[in-house]
Amino acid sequence: MTLPIAEVEVLFDGCRWAEGPVWFNDLGCLIWSDIPNNRMLRWTPDQGVGVFRAASNFANGNTRDREGRLVTCEHGTRRVTRTEPDGKITVIADSYQGKRLNSPNDVVVKSDGTIWFTDPTYGILSDYEGFKAEPEQEGCFVFRVDPASGEITVVADDFVKPNGLAFSPDETRLLVADSGFSHDPDGPHHIRTFDVTDTNNLKGGAVFAEVSPGVPDGFRFDDQGNLWSSAQDGVRVFDPEGNPLGRIKLPQMVANLTFGGPRRNRLFIASTHTLCAVFVGVNGAQSP
Ligand code: MG
Repeated sequence: MTLPIAEVEVLFDGCRWAEGPVWFNDLGCLIWSDIPNNRMLRWTPDQGVGVFRAASNFANGNTRDREGRLVTCEHGTRRVTRTEPDGKITVIADSYQGKRLNSPNDVVVKSDGTIWFTDPTYGILSDYEGFKAEPEQEGCFVFRVDPASGEITVVADDFVKPNGLAFSPDETRLLVADSGFSHDPDGPHHIRTFDVTDTNNLKGGAVFAEVSPGVPDGFRFDDQGNLWSSAQDGVRVFDPEGNPLGRIKLPQMVANLTFGGPRRNRLFIASTHTLCAVFVGVNGAQSP
């Protein structure tokens, strides 16, 4: 699945903590977050890197909904937003049961338009990736939002630090990382797999794969159903059952990744200070 002559290219070096890469095929660009620098950056093959949004409210994970709109998790404002075609910002979620969210971390949109995101406390633990604050929520939950009604529902409440998430290409499963190990040596550093029910709830939750060293943060599926996950020492690839298939070794910790390029066969990797890319022998799944 890797190409023997393809090498990892460093497209940009100058982030403090790169996260949330998302590919815009219509614009031919990649947008990602540089959380502690409170900005989002944009890379295009011809023009290189420029600022997409600053200040970004300490934006973290990004995705696109099925109408192509940018959906962003913001630590600083503790909310999930959508950027409309005219540039206006719509708040998708900023509270649950009248209390502020912790700091939304990563987000995916299902083909029915529902928006699913994780809400660990990383963005309120210090003033580095947001603004230090006491959590108002009882825990760190995984949420689903109905875009029509705005209703917000807890779909999983037994995570220490829910983090990256992705639907399998057929959307029968949702995989969610628990990176609790980042602040607790006895905490989890694994990815769990849930069945998605007809009513858009989750069942199961068995461990799909452990990631070590470090923790799994963000990940994406390829169109064969393999999972490409971030790890401390690079990128780990797992088959649909969670068996390890291979790795891409990198010198800096990886937070997140996404497939992009016109053929979705270029893996863009947010790796601490850098944005890297490598052509691979598979194509990313159609869902963002
Ligand atoms: Mg994350």
